[in-house]
Amino acid sequence: TDYKPLDEISVWTPTAGGSQPTDYKRNEKLDQKISLYNGDITKLEIDAIVNAANNTLLGGGGVDGAIHRAAGPMLKKECASLNGCKTGEAKITCGYRLPAKYVIHTVGPIAQGGVGEEEKNALRSCYRNSLETATENGARSVAFPCISTGIYGYPSERAVHEALKTVRDYLDAHHDKLDRVIFCVFLPKDRKLYEENLPLYFPAE
Ligand code: ADP
Repeated sequence: TDYKPLDEISVWTPTAGGSQPTDYKRNEKLDQKISLYNGDITKLEIDAIVNAANNTLLGGGGVDGAIHRAAGPMLKKECASLNGCKTGEAKITCGYRLPAKYVIHTVGPIAQGGVGEEEKNALRSCYRNSLETATENGARSVAFPCISTGIYGYPSERAVHEALKTVRDYLDAHHDKLDRVIFCVFLPKDRKLYEENLPLYFPAE
């Protein structure tokens, strides 16, 4: 099997002394809780993976297609019973043939017409509502893909800040409810963006 169990997903540690000036200070309770994982989200053997779905929840391209293929047809069956999902909201299903126990389906904003307040707030809601849904269901490890930055066209260099800020703010308030949040990057440019920006939101000091 090529599954990745949680204990093999390396914890992200800020480089001491290498941190840049930021509004955020180190929160010791978050040490050991953040990972950057470069690869296929469907391989993660954790409590919950987040799907960048569409409003129908019936499957699509990109990460959505990969998750449905790996989970098998029962996932689509359960999704069909959920009456879709509004942009910015999140709904949970079983993981079926995935190594992850749950899939949290969230719908990111379509940003091809540009990014305004509405799109920004919707993207933040995706991260916040997904984390809330995870903790409500007892999931303690959660992995996010780069929501909206593929087919939905949200600029990656702006999305990374919304993702990191929203997760940091949620963890500051609810660190006891989660063991690990994994940022799952798929493209080299996203890996680079997360490596550059993680220290701003999760600094060493
Ligand atoms: P959206 O419609 O929300 O833009 P996409 O699936 O098109 O969603 O893209 C979201 C991100 O998911 C992109 O960065 C894309 O490269 C990435 N991605 C695609 N397949 C996978 C996968 N198997 N695992 C993790 N990330 C993936």
